[in-house]
Amino acid sequence: MADRPIIETDVLVCGGGSAGLVAALASARAGAKTILVERAGFAGGIITAVGLPYFDGIAIPRDYRILVRGIALELLADMGVCRAGDVEIRPHNPIIRNTEQFKLLADKKLIAERANLRTLFHSTVCEVSTAGDRISEVCVANKSGLMRIRPREVIDCTGDADVAAWAGAPTEKNKPLMPLTMHFRIGNLMRNLEMKQNCAAQLAEAHAAGELQLYYGPGLNFAFAPNEAYVHAIRVVADATDADDLTRAEMQGRADVWTMFSRWKKSVPGFEESYLISSGPYIGIRETRRLVGEYVLTEADIRAQTKFDDAVATGCWYLDVHPQQVTVGSANVGHGFQPGPYDIPYRSLQPQKIANLLVAGRCHSASKEAASSTRVTVTAMAMGEAAGTAAALAVERKRSTHEVSGVEVRKALDQRHAGPFLG
Ligand SMILES: Cc1cc2nc3c(=O)[nH]c(=O)nc-3n(C[C@H](O)[C@H](O)[C@H](O)COP(=O)(O)OP(=O)(O)OC[C@H]3O[C@@H](n4cnc5c(N)ncnc54)[C@H](O)[C@@H]3O)c2cc1C
Repeated sequence: MADRPIIETDVLVCGGGSAGLVAALASARAGAKTILVERAGFAGGIITAVGLPYFDGIAIPRDYRILVRGIALELLADMGVCRAGDVEIRPHNPIIRNTEQFKLLADKKLIAERANLRTLFHSTVCEVSTAGDRISEVCVANKSGLMRIRPREVIDCTGDADVAAWAGAPTEKNKPLMPLTMHFRIGNLMRNLEMKQNCAAQLAEAHAAGELQLYYGPGLNFAFAPNEAYVHAIRVVADATDADDLTRAEMQGRADVWTMFSRWKKSVPGFEESYLISSGPYIGIRETRRLVGEYVLTEADIRAQTKFDDAVATGCWYLDVHPQQVTVGSANVGHGFQPGPYDIPYRSLQPQKIANLLVAGRCHSASKEAASSTRVTVTAMAMGEAAGTAAALAVERKRSTHEVSGVEVRKALDQRHAGPFLG
């Protein structure tokens, strides 16, 4: 490790999912020299690594006002879902029709910022060193070997709070954790009215026969094409911050894909000529570690729509908890509370103890219930934009992100037509 060259940068973004992609773009566009490190060969996180087309958290049901502007809205507009200046969107939970196209769009956006942004795919953050209350170095493993990166500011968008935990910032993990889901796609179906019902009956039989431990759904969705099912019915219990458990979950998820597909192909009318297009490539992780930061956003805050002076983003998704049990017809037990638009404070991105770190996305500082709402795609992007903007501001003002105030960050976001919804 000692003889490796040191790479210096203003801002290091760890993880290039919903939050990290947007954080890196925001930081680079604000003029900070930025490095984005992502363990997959592409950006987009759950959208591209799991195949998820939903952009939830942009509006609430039966209202349709766009609550999150900035880069999230830019990405949706570039995917042809809406136009840049739109103030309303229908439905409130839009989908992108092609996650491969999103992969390419993310590449183009990253390349466009290359004067300030270095992107490293196939690169995994594996160690963090601290000096006093600062992260001094982050070690990244990739095909060049081990890279030592010395950043002024770090943004943890790993979804698992890897950097925060390894730097010694307080984090927590729920018991029980929400289950993991391997998404998969089946092509060449003859869709019919009884299909979902018949698929559900097969899942129930497989569960009763001990072939499937858990599932939800039937989870058949025709988001991409009328003859192609996109299936989100898998449910695997695991702690994805444990390497052995994550490996077991990937294997279990894949086995469950084939159990479901084989049963449906054998017994469900309309599946006769079908074939399995793909699974994954990664199993989807809903929750693991979360930051216990300077402020922990709570369910009470969400229900009361608490106003924060340091609000930097807006959330609006319902309290969406997936249980460790079989659920049929819905992913949840009952229906979680649907809030109005609520504030996400800057302090919920700020860790305790570490001055030059922000945490954005599904692992920011929120209670179990609050995080079940803030974890969705567009809300993660909004937090990423706030974190990237704050880190660049800190660099420009020669301060740490802990010394920058949420009010300053909000002003900077507003200048970019981003930041919290103002009504
Ligand atoms: C199965 C499933 C279904 C979902 N359904 C919906 C839905 O219908 N609608 C909706 O809006 N949201 C849904 N969500 C939630 C939502 O999409 C995610 O919570 C959101 O994308 C979170 O974004 P993120 O950037 O925080 O995390 P992620 O998207 O998980 O991104 C984290 C990124 O960090 C990378 N990474 C992790 N560790 C390291 C490391 N050590 N070094 C380098 N890189 C690392 C990962 O490869 C990944 O790209 C779903 C989630 C799952 C798992």
